[in-house]
Amino acid sequence: MNFLQSLKTLKNHIHICGIYPFILTIYGFSKIVEKIFGIGSIWVTMWKILSANIGETKEFRMAIMSPLWIILIYYLTVAFFFYIRRVKFFKPYKIQPDVKNKFSAAEINEIRNSILFNQFVILPLCFWAVYHLFLHENHPMLDFETIPTFPVVFSKIVINLMIFEFTFYYFHRAFHHKWIYKYFHKQHHKFTAPFALVVQYSHPLEYVICDVIAPGIGLFVTKCDAATALAYSAVVTSMTVIYHCGYHLPFLMSPEAHDYHHAYYYECFGSNGLMDFLHGTSKNFIKSERFKMHQTFWGIGTGCNKKVD
Ligand SMILES: [Zn+2]
Ligand SMILES: [Zn+2]
Repeated sequence: MNFLQSLKTLKNHIHICGIYPFILTIYGFSKIVEKIFGIGSIWVTMWKILSANIGETKEFRMAIMSPLWIILIYYLTVAFFFYIRRVKFFKPYKIQPDVKNKFSAAEINEIRNSILFNQFVILPLCFWAVYHLFLHENHPMLDFETIPTFPVVFSKIVINLMIFEFTFYYFHRAFHHKWIYKYFHKQHHKFTAPFALVVQYSHPLEYVICDVIAPGIGLFVTKCDAATALAYSAVVTSMTVIYHCGYHLPFLMSPEAHDYHHAYYYECFGSNGLMDFLHGTSKNFIKSERFKMHQTFWGIGTGCNKKVD
């Protein structure tokens, strides 16, 4: 097999597009709006307003406002997927239409309490610890003055997501070890057909390792400033909600691999498929019908809604 054929094989196995077309579309749309109305950069204006109103001290910004930003993005994305559950148009895009999640009142309480505890106790504690343990006064992540250009933000997001693929794969796979799984990760696997809310329904230890440390390591490696770090946090938060949303919508990244992972447990541990490809932990997924759907569809009737025909 020559180099080009190898690349083609790799491309077929990895969800290359990911969330990048979505980011570029949003950015392109903002540029069009700026041109039409003859205004300056919408993003720079929003960042100036935001950074001027998120508290005085760096500790407050880091330990309180940064977690609140992630929580806000989470609920906005989750709200969208909760809304479309009631809209008939989106029904054909449901990934596991036959599986109905039913809960008792006690289960709803338990799910809600677990998510709220992770978000409002564990997450701020992690950010507070990071602030005191790893950041010094002049660390780039505490730099709220720098306004990076779009190519810088975009390229750092790409690098961070590649690092996330590496860290998340190994941490997540470790949680599937038979000695660990039932104590920590089983909670997150309660649902074989996941829905948007459950992305942050996990044991606190798993939440710290897979949801905070795994996506956060890259921020240190790439020396991200505050604006880039918050942009990346928004991307990775909405991306993981999409992975669990239970819908494969056109124009959006495919959630088929992680949905398959929730259905069958033993494959598809990574985020974009690269580490699963290298370790051979997506062999059955690749042979399955689901894999044919594992792509971004560029039209409302182009494939992802055919599964209920
Ligand atoms: Zn999951
Ligand atoms: Zn898992």
